[in-house]
Amino acid sequence: MVTQFAGAVDKLRRRVRHGMVKERARILVVGGGYVGMYTALRLQQKLKPELGRGEAEITVVTPDPYMTYQPFLPEAAAGSISPRHVVVPLRRVLPHCRVVVGEVTAIDHAKRTATLTTLATDEEGTGPQQVMYDELVLAPGSVSRTLPIPGLADYGIGFKTVEEAIGLRNHVIEQMDIASSTRDPAIRDAALTFVFVGGGFAGVEALGELEDMARYTTRYYHNVKPEDMKWILVEASDRILPEVGEDMGRYTVSELRRRNIDVRLGTRLESCADRVAVLSDGARFPTRTVVWTAGVKPHPLLAATDLPLTERGRLKCTPELTIEGVTHAWAAGDAAAVPDVTAPGTHTAPNAQHAVRQARVLADNIVRSLRGQALQTYSHRYAGSVASLGLHEGVAHVYGRKLKGYPAWFMHRAYHLSRVPTFNRKARVLAEWTLSGLFKREIVSLGSLEHPRAEFELAAGGKPSDTPKNGPQDGSQGDSNNNPKGLS
Ligand SMILES: Cc1cc2nc3c(=O)[nH]c(=O)nc-3n(C[C@H](O)[C@H](O)[C@H](O)COP(=O)(O)OP(=O)(O)OC[C@H]3O[C@@H](n4cnc5c(N)ncnc54)[C@H](O)[C@@H]3O)c2cc1C
Repeated sequence: MVTQFAGAVDKLRRRVRHGMVKERARILVVGGGYVGMYTALRLQQKLKPELGRGEAEITVVTPDPYMTYQPFLPEAAAGSISPRHVVVPLRRVLPHCRVVVGEVTAIDHAKRTATLTTLATDEEGTGPQQVMYDELVLAPGSVSRTLPIPGLADYGIGFKTVEEAIGLRNHVIEQMDIASSTRDPAIRDAALTFVFVGGGFAGVEALGELEDMARYTTRYYHNVKPEDMKWILVEASDRILPEVGEDMGRYTVSELRRRNIDVRLGTRLESCADRVAVLSDGARFPTRTVVWTAGVKPHPLLAATDLPLTERGRLKCTPELTIEGVTHAWAAGDAAAVPDVTAPGTHTAPNAQHAVRQARVLADNIVRSLRGQALQTYSHRYAGSVASLGLHEGVAHVYGRKLKGYPAWFMHRAYHLSRVPTFNRKARVLAEWTLSGLFKREIVSLGSLEHPRAEFELAAGGKPSDTPKNGPQDGSQGDSNNNPKGLS
Protein backbone atom coordinates (compact mmCIF):
# COMPACT_ATOMS: atom_id res chain seq x y z
CA MET A 1 0.00 0.00 0.00
CA VAL A 2 2.79 2.37 1.09
CA THR A 3 4.86 1.39 -1.98
CA GLN A 4 1.86 1.99 -4.22
CA PHE A 5 1.34 5.47 -2.69
CA ALA A 6 5.06 6.36 -2.98
CA GLY A 7 4.95 5.23 -6.58
CA ALA A 8 1.98 7.48 -7.33
CA VAL A 9 3.73 10.46 -5.72
CA ASP A 10 6.89 9.79 -7.81
CA LYS A 11 4.78 9.58 -10.95
CA LEU A 12 3.07 12.89 -10.10
CA ARG A 13 6.45 14.55 -9.42
CA ARG A 14 7.75 13.33 -12.79
CA ARG A 15 4.64 14.71 -14.55
CA VAL A 16 5.06 18.08 -12.77
CA ARG A 17 8.76 18.15 -13.76
CA HIS A 18 7.88 17.48 -17.36
CA GLY A 19 5.22 20.22 -17.35
CA MET A 20 2.35 17.72 -17.81
CA VAL A 21 0.77 18.86 -14.52
CA LYS A 22 1.24 22.38 -13.13
CA GLU A 23 2.52 22.52 -9.55
CA ARG A 24 -0.04 24.21 -7.26
CA ALA A 25 1.16 27.56 -5.94
CA ARG A 26 1.15 27.82 -2.16
CA ILE A 27 -0.31 31.24 -1.37
CA LEU A 28 0.18 32.46 2.19
CA VAL A 29 -2.12 35.31 3.27
CA VAL A 30 -0.94 36.97 6.50
CA GLY A 31 -3.89 38.75 8.17
CA GLY A 32 -7.62 38.09 8.14
CA GLY A 33 -8.83 41.69 8.04
CA TYR A 34 -10.13 43.69 5.10
CA VAL A 35 -7.25 42.88 2.76
CA GLY A 36 -6.67 39.32 3.97
CA MET A 37 -10.31 38.28 3.81
CA TYR A 38 -11.22 39.98 0.54
CA THR A 39 -8.05 38.76 -1.19
CA ALA A 40 -8.63 35.17 -0.08
CA LEU A 41 -12.30 35.38 -1.09
CA ARG A 42 -11.43 36.45 -4.61
CA LEU A 43 -8.57 33.97 -4.95
CA GLN A 44 -10.88 31.21 -3.77
CA GLN A 45 -13.40 32.24 -6.37
CA LYS A 46 -10.89 32.47 -9.23
CA LEU A 47 -8.44 29.66 -8.52
CA LYS A 48 -10.95 27.05 -7.35
CA PRO A 49 -8.66 25.53 -4.69
CA GLU A 50 -11.52 23.31 -3.47
CA LEU A 51 -11.14 20.88 -6.38
CA GLY A 52 -7.77 19.75 -5.18
CA ARG A 53 -6.55 20.26 -8.71
CA GLY A 54 -6.97 24.04 -8.88
CA GLU A 55 -4.05 26.32 -9.48
CA ALA A 56 -3.26 27.07 -5.85
CA GLU A 57 -3.68 26.22 -2.22
CA ILE A 58 -4.48 29.19 -0.03
CA THR A 59 -3.60 29.49 3.66
CA VAL A 60 -4.82 32.43 5.72
CA VAL A 61 -3.03 33.04 9.02
CA THR A 62 -4.77 35.36 11.45
CA PRO A 63 -4.83 35.73 15.26
CA ASP A 64 -8.67 35.74 15.33
CA PRO A 65 -10.94 33.44 13.33
CA TYR A 66 -12.96 36.44 12.18
CA MET A 67 -12.67 39.64 10.17
CA THR A 68 -13.76 42.77 12.04
CA TYR A 69 -15.85 45.37 10.24
CA GLN A 70 -14.20 48.25 12.09
CA PRO A 71 -16.53 51.05 10.94
CA PHE A 72 -19.26 49.35 13.04
CA LEU A 73 -17.22 49.35 16.27
CA PRO A 74 -18.63 52.69 17.51
CA GLU A 75 -22.19 51.38 17.02
CA ALA A 76 -21.26 48.13 18.74
CA ALA A 77 -19.92 50.18 21.68
CA ALA A 78 -23.21 52.09 21.79
CA GLY A 79 -25.16 48.82 21.81
CA SER A 80 -26.89 49.46 18.44
CA ILE A 81 -25.27 46.35 16.88
CA SER A 82 -24.40 43.10 18.67
CA PRO A 83 -20.68 42.29 18.74
CA ARG A 84 -21.31 39.02 16.83
CA HIS A 85 -22.66 40.96 13.87
CA VAL A 86 -19.62 43.22 13.59
CA VAL A 87 -17.42 40.26 12.76
CA VAL A 88 -17.38 37.83 9.83
CA PRO A 89 -16.42 34.19 10.57
CA LEU A 90 -13.53 33.42 8.23
CA ARG A 91 -14.05 29.66 8.20
CA ARG A 92 -17.59 30.16 6.93
CA VAL A 93 -16.73 32.58 4.11
CA LEU A 94 -13.49 30.85 3.15
CA PRO A 95 -14.46 27.16 3.05
CA HIS A 96 -11.86 26.40 0.37
CA CYS A 97 -8.93 28.04 2.12
CA ARG A 98 -6.97 26.76 5.09
CA VAL A 99 -7.63 29.16 7.97
CA VAL A 100 -4.93 28.96 10.64
CA VAL A 101 -5.53 30.85 13.87
CA GLY A 102 -2.10 32.06 14.81
CA GLU A 103 0.40 34.84 14.44
CA VAL A 104 3.19 35.22 11.94
CA THR A 105 6.14 36.54 13.92
CA ALA A 106 8.81 36.80 11.19
CA ILE A 107 9.22 36.38 7.45
CA ASP A 108 12.34 35.41 5.52
CA HIS A 109 11.16 36.13 2.01
CA ALA A 110 14.51 35.23 0.48
CA LYS A 111 13.86 31.68 1.74
CA ARG A 112 10.05 31.95 1.20
CA THR A 113 9.50 31.04 4.85
CA ALA A 114 7.23 32.48 7.52
CA THR A 115 7.58 31.80 11.23
CA LEU A 116 4.27 31.05 12.87
CA THR A 117 2.95 30.54 16.40
CA THR A 118 -0.48 29.09 17.11
CA LEU A 119 -2.41 28.18 20.24
CA ALA A 120 -1.24 24.60 19.64
CA THR A 121 2.44 25.51 19.41
CA ASP A 122 2.06 27.31 22.77
CA GLU A 123 0.25 24.30 24.26
CA GLU A 124 2.77 21.78 22.92
CA GLY A 125 5.75 23.88 23.88
CA THR A 126 7.35 22.97 20.55
CA GLY A 127 8.20 26.53 19.59
CA PRO A 128 7.22 28.33 16.41
CA GLN A 129 6.58 26.51 13.12
CA GLN A 130 8.13 27.36 9.76
CA VAL A 131 5.71 27.62 6.84
CA MET A 132 6.92 27.56 3.23
CA TYR A 133 5.09 29.48 0.53
CA ASP A 134 5.38 30.47 -3.13
CA GLU A 135 3.35 33.71 -3.04
CA LEU A 136 3.10 35.98 0.00
CA VAL A 137 0.25 38.41 0.71
CA LEU A 138 1.29 40.53 3.66
CA ALA A 139 -1.67 42.35 5.26
CA PRO A 140 -1.33 42.56 9.05
CA GLY A 141 -2.84 46.09 9.09
CA SER A 142 -1.83 48.62 11.69
CA VAL A 143 -1.66 49.02 15.47
CA SER A 144 -2.42 52.05 17.67
CA ARG A 145 0.24 54.73 17.42
CA THR A 146 1.11 55.43 21.03
CA LEU A 147 3.55 57.93 22.54
CA PRO A 148 5.67 57.60 25.67
CA ILE A 149 3.12 59.46 27.79
CA PRO A 150 3.28 58.70 31.54
CA GLY A 151 0.42 56.41 32.58
CA LEU A 152 -0.77 55.69 29.02
CA ALA A 153 0.38 52.08 28.92
CA ASP A 154 -1.26 51.43 32.31
CA TYR A 155 -4.54 53.26 31.91
CA GLY A 156 -5.15 53.97 28.21
CA ILE A 157 -7.91 52.11 26.37
CA GLY A 158 -7.58 51.41 22.63
CA PHE A 159 -10.43 51.29 20.13
CA LYS A 160 -9.45 49.00 17.28
CA THR A 161 -10.98 45.66 18.15
CA VAL A 162 -14.45 44.39 18.96
CA GLU A 163 -13.20 43.34 22.41
CA GLU A 164 -12.04 46.90 23.11
CA ALA A 165 -15.33 48.37 21.88
CA ILE A 166 -17.46 46.10 24.07
CA GLY A 167 -15.03 46.47 27.01
CA LEU A 168 -15.37 50.24 26.71
CA ARG A 169 -19.16 50.09 26.64
CA ASN A 170 -19.18 47.95 29.79
CA HIS A 171 -16.62 50.24 31.39
CA VAL A 172 -18.65 53.42 30.74
CA ILE A 173 -21.82 51.91 32.21
CA GLU A 174 -19.83 50.60 35.18
CA GLN A 175 -18.52 54.11 35.80
CA MET A 176 -22.12 55.33 35.92
CA ASP A 177 -22.88 52.59 38.48
CA ILE A 178 -19.89 53.66 40.54
CA ALA A 179 -20.92 57.33 40.38
CA SER A 180 -24.44 56.42 41.36
CA SER A 181 -23.40 54.44 44.43
CA THR A 182 -20.41 56.26 45.88
CA ARG A 183 -20.64 58.88 48.62
CA ASP A 184 -17.23 60.28 47.71
CA PRO A 185 -17.59 63.30 45.36
CA ALA A 186 -14.01 62.90 44.04
CA ILE A 187 -14.68 59.28 42.99
CA ARG A 188 -17.99 60.28 41.45
CA ASP A 189 -16.36 63.10 39.50
CA ALA A 190 -13.56 60.91 38.17
CA ALA A 191 -16.02 58.14 37.26
CA LEU A 192 -18.13 60.57 35.21
CA THR A 193 -15.18 62.10 33.34
CA PHE A 194 -14.41 60.52 29.94
CA VAL A 195 -11.37 61.67 27.98
CA PHE A 196 -10.87 60.76 24.31
CA VAL A 197 -7.54 61.54 22.68
CA GLY A 198 -7.52 61.90 18.87
CA GLY A 199 -10.08 63.59 16.66
CA GLY A 200 -9.99 61.19 13.70
CA PHE A 201 -12.78 58.82 12.68
CA ALA A 202 -12.35 56.33 15.50
CA GLY A 203 -12.16 58.94 18.30
CA VAL A 204 -15.00 61.17 17.12
CA GLU A 205 -17.37 58.33 16.27
CA ALA A 206 -16.61 56.41 19.47
CA LEU A 207 -17.09 59.50 21.61
CA GLY A 208 -20.22 60.59 19.72
CA GLU A 209 -21.88 57.17 20.04
CA LEU A 210 -20.86 56.51 23.66
CA GLU A 211 -21.86 59.97 24.91
CA ASP A 212 -25.22 59.53 23.21
CA MET A 213 -25.64 56.09 24.79
CA ALA A 214 -24.59 57.35 28.27
CA ARG A 215 -26.91 60.36 28.07
CA TYR A 216 -29.79 58.03 27.26
CA THR A 217 -28.78 55.65 30.05
CA THR A 218 -28.93 58.43 32.71
CA ARG A 219 -32.78 58.23 32.41
CA TYR A 220 -32.55 55.05 34.44
CA TYR A 221 -30.36 56.47 37.25
CA HIS A 222 -32.03 58.42 40.03
CA ASN A 223 -28.90 60.44 40.78
CA VAL A 224 -26.86 60.73 37.56
CA LYS A 225 -27.90 63.48 35.15
CA PRO A 226 -26.43 64.17 31.68
CA GLU A 227 -24.96 67.45 32.96
CA ASP A 228 -23.04 65.55 35.69
CA MET A 229 -20.87 63.89 33.02
CA LYS A 230 -17.80 65.45 31.43
CA TRP A 231 -16.91 64.25 27.94
CA ILE A 232 -13.66 65.69 26.63
CA LEU A 233 -12.11 65.38 23.15
CA VAL A 234 -8.41 66.26 22.95
CA GLU A 235 -6.92 66.87 19.49
CA ALA A 236 -3.37 68.05 18.80
CA SER A 237 -4.13 69.73 15.45
CA ASP A 238 -6.55 72.61 14.88
CA ARG A 239 -9.30 70.48 13.31
CA ILE A 240 -11.09 67.18 13.66
CA LEU A 241 -12.30 64.63 11.10
CA PRO A 242 -10.01 65.79 8.28
CA GLU A 243 -11.60 63.07 6.11
CA VAL A 244 -14.88 65.03 5.79
CA GLY A 245 -13.22 68.33 4.87
CA GLU A 246 -12.77 71.62 6.71
CA ASP A 247 -16.41 72.83 6.72
CA MET A 248 -17.81 69.57 7.93
CA GLY A 249 -15.01 69.28 10.50
CA ARG A 250 -15.99 72.72 11.86
CA TYR A 251 -19.64 71.69 11.90
CA THR A 252 -18.72 68.57 13.87
CA VAL A 253 -16.89 70.65 16.47
CA SER A 254 -19.88 72.95 16.93
CA GLU A 255 -22.29 70.01 17.03
CA LEU A 256 -20.24 68.23 19.70
CA ARG A 257 -19.93 71.45 21.72
CA ARG A 258 -23.70 71.96 21.49
CA ARG A 259 -23.97 68.59 23.23
CA ASN A 260 -21.71 69.94 26.03
CA ILE A 261 -18.73 67.92 24.86
CA ASP A 262 -15.56 69.80 25.69
CA VAL A 263 -13.59 69.80 22.39
CA ARG A 264 -10.00 71.01 22.89
CA LEU A 265 -8.15 71.65 19.64
CA GLY A 266 -4.40 72.31 19.50
CA THR A 267 -4.09 70.38 22.77
CA ARG A 268 -2.14 67.25 23.71
CA LEU A 269 -2.41 64.71 26.49
CA GLU A 270 0.79 65.06 28.53
CA SER A 271 0.17 62.51 31.25
CA CYS A 272 -2.47 60.22 32.64
CA ALA A 273 -0.37 58.84 35.49
CA ASP A 274 -2.26 58.23 38.76
CA ARG A 275 -5.49 58.48 36.80
CA VAL A 276 -5.26 62.21 36.25
CA ALA A 277 -5.36 63.37 32.62
CA VAL A 278 -3.02 66.34 32.33
CA LEU A 279 -3.36 68.35 29.12
CA SER A 280 -0.87 70.68 27.41
CA ASP A 281 -3.20 73.67 28.07
CA GLY A 282 -2.72 73.11 31.80
CA ALA A 283 -6.11 71.45 32.44
CA ARG A 284 -6.19 68.43 34.80
CA PHE A 285 -9.01 65.90 34.90
CA PRO A 286 -9.08 63.07 37.42
CA THR A 287 -10.59 60.26 35.34
CA ARG A 288 -10.85 56.50 35.02
CA THR A 289 -11.36 56.65 31.26
CA VAL A 290 -8.68 57.68 28.77
CA VAL A 291 -9.50 56.38 25.29
CA TRP A 292 -6.52 56.58 22.95
CA THR A 293 -7.44 56.95 19.27
CA ALA A 294 -4.58 59.17 18.13
CA GLY A 295 -3.79 57.41 14.89
CA VAL A 296 -2.22 54.16 13.77
CA LYS A 297 1.22 52.93 12.81
CA PRO A 298 2.20 49.94 10.65
CA HIS A 299 2.16 46.54 12.31
CA PRO A 300 5.46 45.68 14.09
CA LEU A 301 5.62 42.38 12.15
CA LEU A 302 6.80 44.35 9.11
CA ALA A 303 10.07 45.14 10.87
CA ALA A 304 10.65 41.39 11.37
CA THR A 305 10.86 40.72 7.63
CA ASP A 306 13.53 41.17 4.96
CA LEU A 307 11.15 43.31 2.90
CA PRO A 308 11.72 47.00 2.05
CA LEU A 309 10.01 49.59 4.27
CA THR A 310 9.43 53.34 3.94
CA GLU A 311 10.79 55.60 6.66
CA ARG A 312 7.33 55.48 8.27
CA GLY A 313 7.59 51.70 8.44
CA ARG A 314 5.02 50.74 5.77
CA LEU A 315 5.90 48.24 3.03
CA LYS A 316 7.24 49.89 -0.12
CA CYS A 317 4.79 48.87 -2.82
CA THR A 318 4.28 49.40 -6.52
CA PRO A 319 0.96 50.55 -8.02
CA GLU A 320 0.46 46.88 -9.02
CA LEU A 321 0.51 46.01 -5.29
CA THR A 322 3.70 44.01 -5.45
CA ILE A 323 6.37 44.73 -2.85
CA GLU A 324 9.12 46.79 -4.42
CA GLY A 325 12.36 45.07 -5.44
CA VAL A 326 11.25 41.48 -4.75
CA THR A 327 9.18 38.92 -6.59
CA HIS A 328 6.20 36.86 -5.40
CA ALA A 329 5.37 39.28 -2.53
CA TRP A 330 2.21 41.41 -2.42
CA ALA A 331 0.74 43.89 0.04
CA ALA A 332 -2.15 46.31 0.47
CA GLY A 333 -4.16 48.11 3.16
CA ASP A 334 -2.86 49.86 6.26
CA ALA A 335 0.49 48.02 6.15
CA ALA A 336 1.32 49.08 2.60
CA ALA A 337 2.58 52.36 1.15
CA VAL A 338 0.87 52.18 -2.24
CA PRO A 339 1.55 55.05 -4.67
CA ASP A 340 -1.68 56.94 -5.35
CA VAL A 341 -1.72 57.21 -9.13
CA THR A 342 -4.61 59.72 -8.93
CA ALA A 343 -2.42 62.11 -6.86
CA PRO A 344 1.20 61.61 -7.93
CA GLY A 345 3.79 61.89 -5.17
CA THR A 346 1.39 60.69 -2.45
CA HIS A 347 0.37 57.30 -1.06
CA THR A 348 -3.13 55.93 -0.60
CA ALA A 349 -4.54 56.64 2.88
CA PRO A 350 -4.92 53.81 5.37
CA ASN A 351 -8.67 53.27 5.24
CA ALA A 352 -11.23 50.63 4.39
CA GLN A 353 -12.19 52.30 1.14
CA HIS A 354 -8.74 51.60 -0.31
CA ALA A 355 -8.20 48.29 1.53
CA VAL A 356 -11.25 46.62 -0.06
CA ARG A 357 -10.52 47.86 -3.56
CA GLN A 358 -6.82 47.07 -3.31
CA ALA A 359 -7.63 43.52 -2.18
CA ARG A 360 -9.61 42.96 -5.35
CA VAL A 361 -6.80 44.19 -7.63
CA LEU A 362 -4.20 42.31 -5.60
CA ALA A 363 -6.04 38.99 -5.93
CA ASP A 364 -6.58 39.55 -9.66
CA ASN A 365 -2.90 40.35 -10.10
CA ILE A 366 -1.83 37.16 -8.33
CA VAL A 367 -4.07 35.20 -10.71
CA ARG A 368 -2.66 37.12 -13.68
CA SER A 369 0.90 36.52 -12.55
CA LEU A 370 0.26 32.76 -12.10
CA ARG A 371 -1.13 32.69 -15.63
CA GLY A 372 1.70 34.77 -17.09
CA GLN A 373 -0.52 37.78 -17.90
CA ALA A 374 0.22 41.52 -17.46
CA LEU A 375 -0.59 43.10 -14.08
CA GLN A 376 -3.24 45.80 -13.45
CA THR A 377 -2.49 49.14 -11.79
CA TYR A 378 -4.45 50.12 -8.67
CA SER A 379 -6.25 53.42 -9.11
CA HIS A 380 -9.07 54.82 -7.00
CA ARG A 381 -9.95 58.44 -6.34
CA TYR A 382 -11.03 58.91 -2.71
CA ALA A 383 -14.82 59.21 -2.73
CA GLY A 384 -15.15 61.02 0.61
CA SER A 385 -16.39 59.91 3.99
CA VAL A 386 -19.39 59.51 6.25
CA ALA A 387 -19.31 59.53 10.05
CA SER A 388 -21.92 58.93 12.70
CA LEU A 389 -21.99 61.16 15.80
CA GLY A 390 -24.64 59.21 17.71
CA LEU A 391 -28.24 58.20 17.01
CA HIS A 392 -29.69 60.36 14.17
CA GLU A 393 -26.60 62.59 14.04
CA GLY A 394 -23.91 62.45 11.39
CA VAL A 395 -21.69 64.26 8.97
CA ALA A 396 -20.72 63.37 5.40
CA HIS A 397 -18.68 64.65 2.48
CA VAL A 398 -19.10 62.32 -0.47
CA TYR A 399 -18.29 63.10 -4.12
CA GLY A 400 -18.24 66.81 -3.24
CA ARG A 401 -21.66 66.73 -1.53
CA LYS A 402 -21.84 67.81 2.10
CA LEU A 403 -24.53 66.48 4.41
CA LYS A 404 -25.11 66.85 8.13
CA GLY A 405 -27.54 65.77 10.83
CA TYR A 406 -30.15 63.10 10.08
CA PRO A 407 -29.49 62.76 6.29
CA ALA A 408 -25.77 62.21 6.92
CA TRP A 409 -26.50 59.69 9.66
CA PHE A 410 -28.93 57.85 7.37
CA MET A 411 -26.36 57.85 4.59
CA HIS A 412 -23.77 56.48 7.03
CA ARG A 413 -26.04 53.56 7.89
CA ALA A 414 -27.09 52.90 4.29
CA TYR A 415 -23.48 53.01 3.07
CA HIS A 416 -22.13 50.67 5.73
CA LEU A 417 -25.06 48.29 5.39
CA SER A 418 -24.23 48.01 1.71
CA ARG A 419 -20.53 47.44 2.54
CA VAL A 420 -20.60 45.02 5.47
CA PRO A 421 -19.59 41.61 4.07
CA THR A 422 -22.12 38.81 3.49
CA PHE A 423 -25.87 38.93 3.06
CA ASN A 424 -26.25 37.15 6.39
CA ARG A 425 -24.54 40.05 8.26
CA LYS A 426 -26.51 42.68 6.35
CA ALA A 427 -29.81 41.02 7.27
CA ARG A 428 -28.86 40.68 10.94
CA VAL A 429 -27.64 44.28 11.23
CA LEU A 430 -30.77 45.59 9.50
CA ALA A 431 -32.97 43.52 11.82
CA GLU A 432 -31.15 44.91 14.85
CA TRP A 433 -31.53 48.49 13.70
CA THR A 434 -35.22 47.93 12.98
CA LEU A 435 -35.84 46.35 16.39
CA SER A 436 -33.92 49.09 18.20
CA GLY A 437 -36.24 51.62 16.51
CA LEU A 438 -39.22 49.80 18.02
CA PHE A 439 -37.93 49.09 21.51
CA LYS A 440 -35.90 50.90 24.16
CA ARG A 441 -32.11 50.78 24.04
CA GLU A 442 -30.16 48.17 25.99
CA ILE A 443 -28.42 49.75 28.97
CA VAL A 444 -26.79 46.81 30.74
CA SER A 445 -23.09 46.38 31.36
CA LEU A 446 -21.91 42.80 31.06
CA GLY A 447 -18.48 43.59 32.44
CA SER A 448 -18.48 40.35 34.44
CA LEU A 449 -18.30 38.44 31.12
CA GLU A 450 -14.64 39.41 31.15
CA HIS A 451 -14.14 37.39 34.37
CA PRO A 452 -16.56 34.49 33.99
CA ARG A 453 -14.96 32.26 36.65
CA ALA A 454 -14.93 34.87 39.43
CA GLU A 455 -18.33 33.95 40.90
CA PHE A 456 -17.61 30.20 40.93
CA GLU A 457 -14.15 30.65 42.39
CA LEU A 458 -15.64 32.66 45.25
CA ALA A 459 -18.38 30.05 45.78
CA ALA A 460 -15.75 27.31 45.82
CA GLY A 461 -13.93 29.13 48.58
CA GLY A 462 -11.06 30.30 46.41
CA LYS A 463 -9.88 33.74 45.57
CA PRO A 464 -10.81 34.96 42.09
CA SER A 465 -7.58 34.53 40.19
CA ASP A 466 -8.43 36.45 37.07
CA THR A 467 -9.34 39.67 38.82
CA PRO A 468 -8.04 42.24 36.41
CA LYS A 469 -5.14 44.52 36.89
CA ASN A 470 -6.00 47.78 38.60
CA GLY A 471 -6.64 49.49 35.31
CA PRO A 472 -9.46 51.59 33.99
CA GLN A 473 -11.05 48.83 31.91
CA ASP A 474 -12.12 46.92 34.97
CA GLY A 475 -14.11 49.70 36.51
CA SER A 476 -12.56 49.19 39.93
CA GLN A 477 -9.79 50.88 41.81
CA GLY A 478 -8.72 47.93 43.81
CA ASP A 479 -10.41 48.80 47.11
CA SER A 480 -13.81 47.40 47.93
CA ASN A 481 -15.23 50.88 48.28
CA ASN A 482 -14.92 51.38 44.56
CA ASN A 483 -15.91 47.96 43.41
CA PRO A 484 -19.19 48.22 41.54
CA LYS A 485 -20.23 44.72 42.65
CA GLY A 486 -19.46 45.49 46.30
CA LEU A 487 -21.45 48.67 46.19
CA SER A 488 -24.66 47.48 44.60
C1 LIG B 1 -12.89 52.29 15.00
C2 LIG B 1 -12.50 52.34 13.55
C3 LIG B 1 -13.39 52.87 12.62
C4 LIG B 1 -13.03 52.94 11.28
N1 LIG B 1 -13.94 53.46 10.40
C5 LIG B 1 -13.60 53.55 9.09
C6 LIG B 1 -14.53 54.10 8.16
O1 LIG B 1 -15.63 54.51 8.53
N2 LIG B 1 -14.16 54.16 6.85
C7 LIG B 1 -12.93 53.72 6.42
O2 LIG B 1 -12.64 53.79 5.21
N3 LIG B 1 -12.03 53.18 7.27
C8 LIG B 1 -12.34 53.09 8.61
N4 LIG B 1 -11.44 52.54 9.48
C9 LIG B 1 -10.13 52.05 8.98
C10 LIG B 1 -10.21 50.66 8.38
O3 LIG B 1 -10.89 49.79 9.25
C11 LIG B 1 -8.80 50.14 8.08
O4 LIG B 1 -8.18 51.03 7.20
C12 LIG B 1 -8.84 48.74 7.45
O5 LIG B 1 -9.27 47.81 8.41
C13 LIG B 1 -7.45 48.32 6.94
O6 LIG B 1 -7.49 47.00 6.45
P1 LIG B 1 -6.25 46.00 6.62
O7 LIG B 1 -6.64 44.71 6.01
O8 LIG B 1 -5.01 46.66 6.16
O9 LIG B 1 -6.09 45.83 8.19
P2 LIG B 1 -7.10 45.13 9.22
O10 LIG B 1 -8.48 45.14 8.71
O11 LIG B 1 -6.83 45.76 10.54
O12 LIG B 1 -6.60 43.63 9.23
C14 LIG B 1 -5.35 43.21 9.73
C15 LIG B 1 -5.47 41.76 10.09
O13 LIG B 1 -4.18 41.23 10.35
C16 LIG B 1 -4.24 40.43 11.51
N5 LIG B 1 -2.91 40.33 12.10
C17 LIG B 1 -2.31 41.21 12.93
N6 LIG B 1 -1.09 40.74 13.28
C18 LIG B 1 -0.93 39.56 12.65
C19 LIG B 1 0.13 38.60 12.64
N7 LIG B 1 1.24 38.77 13.33
N8 LIG B 1 -0.04 37.47 11.91
C20 LIG B 1 -1.17 37.28 11.20
N9 LIG B 1 -2.20 38.17 11.19
C21 LIG B 1 -2.07 39.29 11.90
C22 LIG B 1 -5.25 41.16 12.37
O14 LIG B 1 -5.76 40.35 13.41
C23 LIG B 1 -6.30 41.50 11.34
O15 LIG B 1 -7.14 40.42 11.10
C24 LIG B 1 -11.77 52.45 10.85
C25 LIG B 1 -10.87 51.91 11.77
C26 LIG B 1 -11.24 51.85 13.11
C27 LIG B 1 -10.26 51.28 14.11
